[in-house]
Amino acid sequence: MSSMKHPNNVPGSWYTTYPDDPNGEGCIACNICYTDLPKFFKDDEDGNAYVYRQPETPEETSEFQDIADTCAVGSIKKDGK
Ligand code: SF4
Repeated sequence: MSSMKHPNNVPGSWYTTYPDDPNGEGCIACNICYTDLPKFFKDDEDGNAYVYRQPETPEETSEFQDIADTCAVGSIKKDGK
């Protein structure tokens, strides 16, 4: 079952899930990702994260994977993985 994506995610492989995600994996606005990696993430008016820019290099992809592993609720995901 696919997760509910935040509507503000830019097109691309990586995305964040919305608080209403039916799998219970929605962003809880803990602010870690957009505080640590503001070049990739922004927060909406409720503090929920969305992907603002996709990673473009192996190094950036590694940064993205690291922050995805850090997210306590698994809200940062990649299509097909
Ligand atoms: S780290 Fe996860 S829960 Fe925290 S703001 Fe980012 S997506 Fe939301």
